[in-house]
This record gives sequence, C-alpha cells and structure tokens, in this order.
Amino acid sequence: MHTIVALNVDYAATGPGHLDRAPCRISIASATTHIIDIVVRVPSLFDPMTMYTALSESDFDAPGVVELETAIEMTKDALAKFTSVILVGHGLARAARVLQLSVGREYQAGADVIEMLRTWNRRFGHWNYYALPKMCHVAGVPVPHNSAERALAMLALYERLVSGPFVASWMKDKLQLMQYSRGFPTEVATKPSPPDGVCVWAYRDDMCQCGQPTLGTKSEGPAAAVGTAPRARTGTEADIEADLEAAYAAPS
Ligand SMILES: [Zn+2]
Repeated sequence: MHTIVALNVDYAATGPGHLDRAPCRISIASATTHIIDIVVRVPSLFDPMTMYTALSESDFDAPGVVELETAIEMTKDALAKFTSVILVGHGLARAARVLQLSVGREYQAGADVIEMLRTWNRRFGHWNYYALPKMCHVAGVPVPHNSAERALAMLALYERLVSGPFVASWMKDKLQLMQYSRGFPTEVATKPSPPDGVCVWAYRDDMCQCGQPTLGTKSEGPAAAVGTAPRARTGTEADIEADLEAAYAAPS
C-alpha cells in the first residue's frame, strides 16, 4: 500500500538572477498527518520573494527557523514515517535535488503535477506548462496562497488526477482551452509581480533581464495524441465545460 505525500518547496532570492535561489520553506502533507511546515534560513538573503512565499525578512529571524541541513534531516525523518511513498510535487526534480531525496531511498516514485498536466502546443511545437493556481482552478481545488496550502493543494490535485481514467485528459483539455481563450478568472491568471531587480524568467529567453542561462523547455512532442482533441471554439468557462462534457460523453 502506497502513501501519497505532497512536498512543496518555496525559494527565496539570493541574488538578482533567475538562478539565484535557495530553499526557504518546506511543507509536507499527507492525508493522515498534520502538515509539516518548516522555514529555512537563507544565507545571503537578497529578497524573500514575499509575493509568492508569503515570508518577509523578519520571518527568518523568528524562533523555529532552521538551517538547510536540519531541514533536510527533518524532511527525511518525516518521509521515513511512511511506507512506500509516492511523492507529489511541482518542480519535483529540483525539490528532490536540493533536499537530497532519491527514488528508492526516501520515496518509491515521484509524481510532478506540472508534468502530469502539461499540454502540447501544436502551433509552436513546445509544451505548455501551467501554474499551480490554473491547475487547481480546473480541478475545483481551492487556490493556495502559501507553502503549506500549496502542499495540501497538490495532494488534492493528485488525488483528483488519479481518481478516474479520463480525469487527467479532461483537465488537460480544459487547461488548454481556458488558456487559448484567455478564460481564466483574473485572480488565477494574474502572476504576482516580482520584486524590482529580481529576474524570474528562468524559462523565457525573451523575458530574462539578468543574462543567466535559461532552462529551455523540451521540444519533443508526444508520441501519440493525448486526450480528446479540444474543439476550436473559444468561449466562456461554461461553454468550454459544455463542449468538453459533450466530447467526453460521446461514444468513441
Ligand atoms: Zn533571468
């Protein structure tokens, strides 16, 4: 029997470049335990990235803040309490790297909700990746606002994704249609503004202001068409849902 455990890692800026980041908050959630929420001291803090982390500089001086080495031990201890962990994350490869977690040791399998819900953009020949608020919106999961809420949201999102055979493809189709028709509500679609002087464009050559190398998105397409082909029609969220319901109800 597997245990589904969600891991969220937030990062603070240690410099102006988009690669200048260090883990500042770690949250772990499972269905059966209280959430574990750790604030991690950041050596040479440049900016706490408050709009995303909900942490301010003074939070790093509060009691209970731990060094990264301690946070790694606490994370490993927390995961060791479960048997056969499926670790759910967003940006899981990076989180596992910074926390020194390995498949077969601290967890049995990883599930990255960003990868599970990416969609292939046929027009431009690249993958579209969606921010957590957008994924939560299409899944009917409350949109999270801090690290602990993000861990709980990922847990709910994953459970929804694996709850039925067509759930994931339905969610991908809806994400794509909502994106193409600019149908997401403002509070979901709007990215929080980064602080002045901190580049946040690790994946966008055209937006990066810092000159550090960007991390290109892989451009290899899917081996086979995934899900039901979305209709070309654009419209409101209600239209999109009606189209999807009709497409998924039709016998194939
Ligand atoms: Zn940059």
